[in-house]
Amino acid sequence: MDAPARYVAGEETAAVHFVTEADARPTSRPPRPFERGVRGQPTLVQNVETLAHAALIARFGDGWYRRAGRGELRGTTLLTTTAAGRSVVVEVELGTTVAEVAAGIGESRESAHAVLVGGYFGGWLPIDRAWSLGLDPHELRGAGRALGCGVVSFLPNDVCGVRATARIMEYMAGQSAAQCGPCVFGLRAIADATSRIGTGLGTSNDLERIGRWVGQLAGRGACRHPDGAVGFLYSAMTVFGDEFAGHARSRTCSRPRALGRAA
Ligand code: SF4
Repeated sequence: MDAPARYVAGEETAAVHFVTEADARPTSRPPRPFERGVRGQPTLVQNVETLAHAALIARFGDGWYRRAGRGELRGTTLLTTTAAGRSVVVEVELGTTVAEVAAGIGESRESAHAVLVGGYFGGWLPIDRAWSLGLDPHELRGAGRALGCGVVSFLPNDVCGVRATARIMEYMAGQSAAQCGPCVFGLRAIADATSRIGTGLGTSNDLERIGRWVGQLAGRGACRHPDGAVGFLYSAMTVFGDEFAGHARSRTCSRPRALGRAA
């Protein structure tokens, strides 16, 4: 049986729940799966990329693996990159810069104004801040970001960051497993207010409310889904602060286009 294609179905307790009870919703922790999981036994939940690396290291040796990487970092990582509406998966050495990733997929600094690093549980960075950043856990942490699921997505100059964010918040609210009140109702309310602001129907009240809710929702669900969603929104309100204010105050936007799709 295939797990449902829902965002939270990949969460570790949801994966264990699906194996044991065919229900791909997260369960509350503790215990974590490594303490008690499938059939009550300690269970390792790991992603396919890590297992593939482990298998290749077993086959070719750690020296082979260590040949890749920049500085102190060893190995490679898979990235899902998006630029100009086209998504490509690439494998790069750890420590590769955002500029090098862009060059590899034909993207330029002049054609994007922001970069989403780490996916929907990651956050936006202005292009100038992101450009020379290495995809290295320490550098990313210094910028307040993490590589997360390995998404590096370039936001084109003509695409409005507020509307792109509103679209992703709509998606995140729709992906709630609908079992924790703050997640179900809180994310829906935040997504609705963000959408109103994005479409020019919002008010400064909406802006004030989402700013407040962002600080209230983290840690209120059985899993980290709401935490990730509000962390992402917080990054948007930081990077696109002027645009959010412009949308809410004068209902104007200098970037005409909405993001075509959530991914
Ligand atoms: S926090 Fe949201 S996604 Fe996570 S278990 Fe609760 S309702 Fe489901």
